[in-house]
This record gives sequence, C-alpha cells and structure tokens, in this order.
Amino acid sequence: MDFECIEAWLELPEFRVTHQVIRSHELELHLERRDTHLVCPRCQGCCERIKEGRARCVRDLPMLDRPVTMRLHVRRFKCSDCHHRPWEKSETFGDHAKWTERLYAQVRQEFLHGCPCQELARRYGLSARTVFRWTFEKSRGGRPRKLGRALGIDEYARRKGHHYNTIIVDLDKGRPITTFKGRRVEEVVRWFQSRPQAERDGVEVVVLDMSKSFYSAMGQVFGDQVEVIDRFHVVQQAVGALDGVLRSVQKQLDREEAKALKKLRKHWLKLPNQLELDALIARADWRRRFPELREVIDWVQDLRKWFERKYDKPARAALWKLIERARASALAPLQDVGGTLSRWFEPIARYMRQRYTNGMTEGFNNKIKLIQRRAFGLRNEHNRKKRILADCGKT
Ligand SMILES: [Zn+2]
Repeated sequence: MDFECIEAWLELPEFRVTHQVIRSHELELHLERRDTHLVCPRCQGCCERIKEGRARCVRDLPMLDRPVTMRLHVRRFKCSDCHHRPWEKSETFGDHAKWTERLYAQVRQEFLHGCPCQELARRYGLSARTVFRWTFEKSRGGRPRKLGRALGIDEYARRKGHHYNTIIVDLDKGRPITTFKGRRVEEVVRWFQSRPQAERDGVEVVVLDMSKSFYSAMGQVFGDQVEVIDRFHVVQQAVGALDGVLRSVQKQLDREEAKALKKLRKHWLKLPNQLELDALIARADWRRRFPELREVIDWVQDLRKWFERKYDKPARAALWKLIERARASALAPLQDVGGTLSRWFEPIARYMRQRYTNGMTEGFNNKIKLIQRRAFGLRNEHNRKKRILADCGKT
C-alpha cells in the first residue's frame, strides 16, 4: 500500500509514514511526527537541527489482516539559541503508551462479547495473557470498589424465577461498585457492614426505588437521612394510577370506543406542543367526556412538574398539597397513590436537595441482562461479578 493510503487508514494526523515492512504475521509501520522543528521549552526559540533519535513501539489495530506494530521515531532537537536539546513529545500518545486506545477498547469489547481469548490473541498479535489482563484489570478480580458519596442500589434477576442479586453503583463516578447474591435486608446489611467504617461514613445519598427491603437495609446501615427515592419510580406509580382509571373508563365503553381510547394511551401524558393537532383535539374531547380521566391526568402532570422545582421548602409544601389532592379524590387508584406517596414523603422530598436519579443503575441493569444472556446464564458468581465490573460503566 502507498503511504498516503496507510496514513488515511491510520487516522493519526500527527504522524507521517516513512517506511513499511510486511511480514507474514505482522505489518510494521515506521512513523515520524510531521513537524520538522520544535519550539524550545527554555527560550521559546526554534529548534531545527536533529541530534539523535530512538524508536518507540506502539501496537495498533490490524490492517490487511495483520497485526500492526508502529515504530515511532522520536527525535531529539538542538536549540540554536541556548544549548538545550529537547526530545519531541507526541500529542497522540502519552510518554509510556505501548498500545493505542482503540486496540485496547476493541480487544476488551470482543472478549467480553464472547470471542475466545486465543483467537483474539492471534488476530491482534498479543499474548493470551495480555488479552485477559486488559479485559479484567479494571474489575480488580471482582473485588468491590470504594463506596462513593452517592450510591444507587437496585436488584436484578440472575436467572429465571425468583433468584435475585443486588447491584450497587457509584453515581458520581458512573460505574458499579459491586454486585452480590441476594436482595434481602440481612444480605444487603451484611455486605455494607463488611466495608470499612470510614467508607460508610462518606456516604451521603443512596438512591433506591420504593422497595421496602432496600429501604430498611439502608436505614439500618446509614440511618434515615440519606435515602432518596428515584424520581422515575415515583412517576411510574402515578402512571400506574392513570392506567387504573383508564381501565375503568374503558369498561364503560363499547368495544370500538375502548379500542380508540387505548390507541390514545401514548398521547395522554404528552405536552400540548408534542402533539399533532388532531391528536390534541381528540384528547380534549375525551377529557370533556370523562372528568375522572381529566382529573388523574392533570394530577400526574403536576407531579411530574413538581420534580422541576428548585427550592426545598416550597417544594415540600407543594408535594403535600399534591398528596392531599390525590387522597381527597373519589378515584380509588389515585387515593392509593396518595397513600403510597405520603408514606414515602421524606425520601421523595429529599430529591430537591440531592437531585440524583437511578437512571444509571437501571442502565447497568439492562447491560447485565445482556451480559448474562451472552454467557448463557453465568453460573459462577465470581465470574459474573468480574464481567459486570469489567463491562459496565466508564473504563
Ligand atoms: Zn533554547
């Protein structure tokens, strides 16, 4: 291949290719920085004369089915003004990088997606040990990471039926801390108590759904000031009430109309500017015909809007008002939600101060499902832990 073509493939604009050697098992590329001079770091003069050079070796993604070894020829210049002799530095690669980020990411991803280690080692010109080390070095052999200031906690099914695990996420750092077998109060409490006291003292927020067992476990470990209910779960409760009312309205209708109402389900909670005009008119029509629908929809909208509030004190008052309104309603589903929210009032209202959600935890949860499916279940708990820590979150 000609050098320009290789350069286009490489996408390393800092370098130009000076030489290539094709061997049966690898492609060796010799690279040099495009700059022909250097600004002297001492006197800001221009260094143009080259004194000496050395070659660095960096591995990269394969080209033409051959693993690529890049030889970077790093030059040392001489300053014409002072007598400094600076080495040139690469903007693309750090001082010690021995492989490119894209190679590292690619190998990890393929291994985690189930490609055999030996096959990857052959394809990328690495040792099997390196493939394994790259993939799992971030999971620290399955050992838990340090507890952060803000945690998210959730459960996931480790296989079909009632077999659940718990996952704990660092919401600031965006990665899982650990995952363990079970979701019962004593199992969760035991895990947290196995952590050093100093780490536990640093925890200020724990986001959870409205699960009683997690709530009581967190209460035992951290007291009752850190729990925050995930806002999407609160809204979910309210949407559940809406569906309840919707069902009871549907029962009063004949089949055709019930169908039409069901079709509109996805339009009920949209803002007016998110709807087409005819959908908007249809919605207004239904609202007029069924005041109970109107009542519950307005309530759900107001609850959603509540989360946009900024100040703690007025927000608390407003939340009480919303709850009172639901409880005073004649609609049973709405009364139920009112009751639920009043029981969880404190941890819901605490959202105003902390503003954390469990969206990230839910995201990891979906990823875990994928990991388990790819590995046909993952029987081994240690292996599961390692894969989840290696695969979820930023690396
Ligand atoms: Zn100089």
